[in-house]
Amino acid sequence: MAKADLPKLFRTLAKYGPVVAPVRVGENVVFREVTSLEEVELEYTRSLTPPKKLFLGPQEEILKFDGEKYEEVFEDGKAVLFGVHACDINGLLKLDEIYLDSPQDEYYARRRENVMIVGMSCVPDERCFCTSTGSSYAYGGFDLFLHDIGREYVVRVRTERGYEFTKDGYFKRMEEKDFLAFKKAEEKKVRSIKRKVDLAGIGDLIDVTPKSLWEELTAKCLACGSCNLVCPTCQCYDVLDVLELDIRSGSRIRRWDSCMLKRHALVAGGGNFRPTVVERTANRLSCKVGGEIRCVGCGRCTVYCPAKIDLVEMLERIRVGA
Ligand code: SF4
Ligand code: SF4
Repeated sequence: MAKADLPKLFRTLAKYGPVVAPVRVGENVVFREVTSLEEVELEYTRSLTPPKKLFLGPQEEILKFDGEKYEEVFEDGKAVLFGVHACDINGLLKLDEIYLDSPQDEYYARRRENVMIVGMSCVPDERCFCTSTGSSYAYGGFDLFLHDIGREYVVRVRTERGYEFTKDGYFKRMEEKDFLAFKKAEEKKVRSIKRKVDLAGIGDLIDVTPKSLWEELTAKCLACGSCNLVCPTCQCYDVLDVLELDIRSGSRIRRWDSCMLKRHALVAGGGNFRPTVVERTANRLSCKVGGEIRCVGCGRCTVYCPAKIDLVEMLERIRVGA
C-alpha cells in the first residue's frame, strides 16, 4: 500500500469504531482516541503506558450495586487500536495467556474480541532489547500490520476481519521487490537493536543471588511501582467496593496494582509476604524472566524508573553474581 493512501485506510478503519493511536504529548507518546491521522505519531519508539490500557483500564468501574441489585457498567464497544508495535502486541499475547485461560476474564475477553489491532513497525532506541526476549516480530495477535519499507507499507493480514479492510483498490499484491524491501527493512531494524541480555537459566540465578547483591541492586529503589505501571505484561489488579453514604449502594472498581508496593503482599492480620524492597524486586524479576519469559524487552521500566534502575544492568549483575 502506498503511504499516500494511509489516510484512506484510516478513514475506513474509523468506520469500525473509535480509533485509539499513539499521540505525542510533550516528551511522551501516549495512546488516546484520535479523529484524524494528522494527530497520530507514526514513527515513535515506545509509549509511556502500554496499549494494554485499552483492555485493562488503569482504574475503571465494573458494576454499580444497590443492596442485592447490581448492573454492569463495563464498556466493551468496538474500537481500533492503531499503530501498535511488535513488542506490545507480544505483550498482549502474554496477557491473553492469563486472562483468557480458564476461568476466562469476561471483561478482558469481550474487549479482545471487539478491539481491532493494527500493528506498525517501530523505531528502536538503545533501551530496547526485544530481540533477546523473542518479541521483535509479531507473528500473530493483530488484524493488520503495517511495515514501513520507504514510500510504501507492506501490510500483513492476520484475520478475516483485517482482510475485509484490504479489499479497496489502493491495496496491491506484493511483488518480489516488495518482499526484498520488507526483508531489508526488518534486517535493518534487528541490527539496530544493539542491547542484548542472556536470559538462559536466569531464574535459577535469581534464586541463588546473595542478599548482599540484592541490597546493592535495590539500594536506590523508591518502591514507587512505576516499573509495574508502564509494563505491557504486568497483570496484577485490585478490586475495591466504593460505598455511598447510604452504605448499601456504590461501585465496584478494578484498578492496576503493583507488586513493588509494600501493601501488595499484605494479608489479614497484618502479615506481609514481601515486606522489603529486596523481596519485592526478586519477585518482580522472577515473574518477568524467572520461568517463562514474560518480559518483551520494551525498556519502559528502565526509561521511566525515577531512580534510574536499569533492568538489563540488574540482570547482568545477577548473572555475574557480584
Ligand atoms: S520504578 Fe524504579 S524506583 Fe520505582 S519501584 Fe520500580 S525499580 Fe523501584
Ligand atoms: S519488564 Fe520492563 S522491559 Fe520487560 S516488558 Fe516490562 S516494562 Fe518492558
